[in-house]
Amino acid sequence: MAYCEEIKDYEDHKWYLIDRKPSKCPNCGKKTIAKAVLGYPLEEDWYNDKIFNIGCLPTPFPEQEKFGCNTCDSRFFKDTPKARAYLNGEYDWY
Ligand SMILES: [Zn+2]
Repeated sequence: MAYCEEIKDYEDHKWYLIDRKPSKCPNCGKKTIAKAVLGYPLEEDWYNDKIFNIGCLPTPFPEQEKFGCNTCDSRFFKDTPKARAYLNGEYDWY
């Protein structure tokens, strides 16, 4: 059973922990979840709705997001022990 747990409001978007790719966004309800890509996008990627462009700066979280929502900018992180430890404050990550 796939799940999606809201963990944080970050600036103007939300963060979720997931076990696999959500079929639709739990925040806006749209099916615009795309694979997250870090770094300056190729022009073809910028217009590709199968890709979520994170941008050049990594998100301040120990796991890079796996997916993002191209409608509301929500981010989806794999649920790992490292991510859990960070959320519990047991893991110093800056
Ligand atoms: Zn969304």
